Amino acid sequence: MSKNWKIETQAIQGGYDPKPGDPRVVTICQSTTFKYDSADYVAKLFDLEVAGHFYTRLGNPTTDAFEKKIAMMEGGVAALGTSSGQAATTLSIFNICQAGQHFITASTLYGGTYNLFAATLPKMGIEVTFVDPEAPADEILKAFRHNTRAVFAETIGNPGLNVLDFEKFSAIAKEKKVPLIIDSTFATPYLCRPFDFGANIIVHSTTKYIDGHATSVGGVIVDGGNFNWDNGNFPELTEPDTSYHGLQYVKTFGPAAYIIKARVQLMRDLGVSPGPMNSFMFNQGLQTLPLRMQRHSDNALAVAKHLEAHPAVSWVSYPGLPSHPSFERAKKYLPKGCSGVLTFGIKGGAPAGKIFMESCQLIALVVHVGDARSCVLHPASTTHRQLSEEQQISSGVTPDLIRLSVGIEHIDDIIEDIDQALAKSQQP
Ligand SMILES: *Cc1c(COP(=O)(O)O)cnc(C)c1O
Repeated sequence: MSKNWKIETQAIQGGYDPKPGDPRVVTICQSTTFKYDSADYVAKLFDLEVAGHFYTRLGNPTTDAFEKKIAMMEGGVAALGTSSGQAATTLSIFNICQAGQHFITASTLYGGTYNLFAATLPKMGIEVTFVDPEAPADEILKAFRHNTRAVFAETIGNPGLNVLDFEKFSAIAKEKKVPLIIDSTFATPYLCRPFDFGANIIVHSTTKYIDGHATSVGGVIVDGGNFNWDNGNFPELTEPDTSYHGLQYVKTFGPAAYIIKARVQLMRDLGVSPGPMNSFMFNQGLQTLPLRMQRHSDNALAVAKHLEAHPAVSWVSYPGLPSHPSFERAKKYLPKGCSGVLTFGIKGGAPAGKIFMESCQLIALVVHVGDARSCVLHPASTTHRQLSEEQQISSGVTPDLIRLSVGIEHIDDIIEDIDQALAKSQQP
């Protein structure tokens, strides 16, 4: 497999290299366990002295092919599949942050991530400071403490669709010698490769565009292999792990220390592993990811332009529009397109929004984004309803906001459906 392949080729051919007589297609290895002849060999597997599969919670050939492919597409050293995007985010933090420690996050987050960070992690003794990602660097730097372990942000903030200033965030993380963890679910490796802009760890909810067909819930963590864990601040990666006979991750695994620790320690203990069937679906989804992301982006831009000129619409937010505050940044970090999600404000507020959603016929009312099929959602009454109004506003949700996840159907049919539903929403 060539490192120089373009991402379209990696998406098709990466991660699996069949030998003569092997199946052409990655097989669904639906087996919990793997057979060996020698007890000594199995002991070596357990001690991580040899690589191989022995139990699907810790690794599986189907998941392995998916992990290798996405690591290649992101330009990282290795990846770890998880049972959901939430699991990926949780492990990405737990791997380097424990009770009594702290991390910093951009406040513009997916609602589930916001709850995890604002409610659940503090109960476990992990403290978090939310910062406005548009604040100047010196203000964000003030949020750091002696025990700050990481900086977290999304490539495209959900649902404000603000594009991250990677340069600013990676410089801040570098100055403070902590890793920059990026949730790149909305961008996918086709539209943006965060490691190229200074990120150290990437997480994805593979449930969205990577699956792309709304069949499976899953997540993945990708390790850039580009952070110096040996800077004195991360003893859990440099000092002996007593749960592994004194294994030292950095010494033994070099640039893959973080992701191997996440697998052999956290996945072993917390067990949020993906099923082989789901890994097969994600691997299949990756094959067409470049084609789909281009179409999602092209369709979303066309819808955004159409809505911006529509009398029933008070505002449109899409980073591909010159009116969006992230427009210039999107040209730099998302040159191929800005993904399929856009938001707009409907005239008549929440009641008109309800009529609009219920009047859509091709566009389905579902709690999802990143499906090949177009879908629509009112975040204030669904994904963000557990947040207070203040928290909603701080994560970019207003009552009139409608979120569209533009699919890959023909653009004319999508726009026709929007127009008829908008017309109904404005009737007295
Ligand atoms: C959906 C989503 C998640 C959570 O992923 P699940 O697979 O639903 O657990 C995290 N981040 C973003 C940006 C998402 O859209």
